[in-house]
Amino acid sequence: MSLYEQYPVSIYNSLNKQKEVFKPIHEGRVGMYVCGPTVYSDVHLGNVRTFVSFDIMFRYLLYLGYKVRYVRNITDVGHLVGDADEGEDKIAKKARLEELEPMEIVQKYTNGFHDVMRLFNALPPSIEPTATGHIVEQIEFIKQIIANGYAYEKDGSVYFDVRKYNKDHQYGELSGRNIDEMLSNTRELTGQDQKNDPLDFALWKKAEGGHLMRWPSPWGVGFPGWHLECSVMSTKYLGEQFDIHGGGMDLKFPHHEAEIAQNKGCCHKGGANYWVHGNMLTVNGRKMAKSEGNGFTPEQLLTGNHKLLERGYSAMTVRFFMLMSHYASTLDFSNEALQAAEKGYKRLMASLSLVKKLPSAGTGSVDEQKSNELKQHIEQAFKDLSDDFNTAKAIANLFEVSTKINTYYQQPAELAKIDADIFNWVITHFRGIIFDVLGLKNETDLAQNNNVLDGAMQVLIELRKQAKFSKNYALSDKIRDDLKAAGIQLKDEKGGEMSYTID
Ligand SMILES: [Zn+2]
Repeated sequence: MSLYEQYPVSIYNSLNKQKEVFKPIHEGRVGMYVCGPTVYSDVHLGNVRTFVSFDIMFRYLLYLGYKVRYVRNITDVGHLVGDADEGEDKIAKKARLEELEPMEIVQKYTNGFHDVMRLFNALPPSIEPTATGHIVEQIEFIKQIIANGYAYEKDGSVYFDVRKYNKDHQYGELSGRNIDEMLSNTRELTGQDQKNDPLDFALWKKAEGGHLMRWPSPWGVGFPGWHLECSVMSTKYLGEQFDIHGGGMDLKFPHHEAEIAQNKGCCHKGGANYWVHGNMLTVNGRKMAKSEGNGFTPEQLLTGNHKLLERGYSAMTVRFFMLMSHYASTLDFSNEALQAAEKGYKRLMASLSLVKKLPSAGTGSVDEQKSNELKQHIEQAFKDLSDDFNTAKAIANLFEVSTKINTYYQQPAELAKIDADIFNWVITHFRGIIFDVLGLKNETDLAQNNNVLDGAMQVLIELRKQAKFSKNYALSDKIRDDLKAAGIQLKDEKGGEMSYTID
């Protein structure tokens, strides 16, 4: 029996507004699509939190034994300033300001995004498609929507006809909005009189004179609307109907609502069966935003170089901190909370090192009740994770196991009473959940490895100095060259001292 059968997953489905048992379309396989970043600036912490939340889902589904295809896109065209249908493309604007090609902007911030994801140990997705790489598919998608009667062309642009769509379907089914209410909240049409209705949104926009990113289409030269790429790329890689679609809460409307409409408008299917939304970050109880002066970057969080931070926190402390609350709750940054997370993270890592020092379990007369008590904490951790990925509750159960490990270390007679098979099962999954599901790394081990390397390097540097001193240049050169081949560069410092850098 697979783990996913043992611990069936339930997910809070934003579409039906309730927690539902997760049933993938194809037994044992999961298709998951998550809206990725628009790569026109450095990734901010709110995004990091969203992507860490979906990383946990990806990792947990894999751990349970599912084969998961995880698609997370890169938005590199079509996302306009103000998230609307008029205005400059966010990437093109940045390109203009930085005097770079739009694709240089895309590359620069895509690299930066990947670096940050690696830093926080988020796994790369199975496929990371870009909007500009799927212009042809987007044009075909629009043609089908027009053919189905849910879009119209006006002077080189194509708009989705929301009212027409709403006659056959329900626009607003995800966000819970109602068309007439939406209309009363919509600003007057200003310069948007091309649209039949202010609710309509662009599928394709005509490129005006100065527009940098442009492609030929049946409607003239232009570029795709922002919402379209996600419908198109999820359909292409996961099918017209697939399992999970995720993104930040702020994308629910209009982005995801428009996605569902486009999918149904093209293919008569709504895309994902389960819509999952991550919540936002707050700082000391207030929304994190540049304008509030409380939006620090991942780098500032690590170095502590921000007025709201008492000091820096390690990447794994920050990751652990994010896991201490449920992905659908707001998460509040404060120095106290980060320090508590640091303690908790270190406590788990300390237990893992203690495990290595424990004698064998089950060497005395086995106490079944005590053995089962231990087992239940891991079983409960699985149930918590299967209950809409509740990492906070799962961590509480890991702490229980951690307490037991401390007891066994101090009183080996207690460990002698624990059934050896149960103990091994518990430790396997204790480690598995910490490293593979929560995606934590042991930073102390990494630091220790660095210390060991440093010690070895000092020995080599000393040997090379002696070789030079005794004029054995063949040996001193060999040490330098062999280290270089191994990716370590020796550098002469002032005063005859020597240091090294790793390439
Ligand atoms: Zn999207």
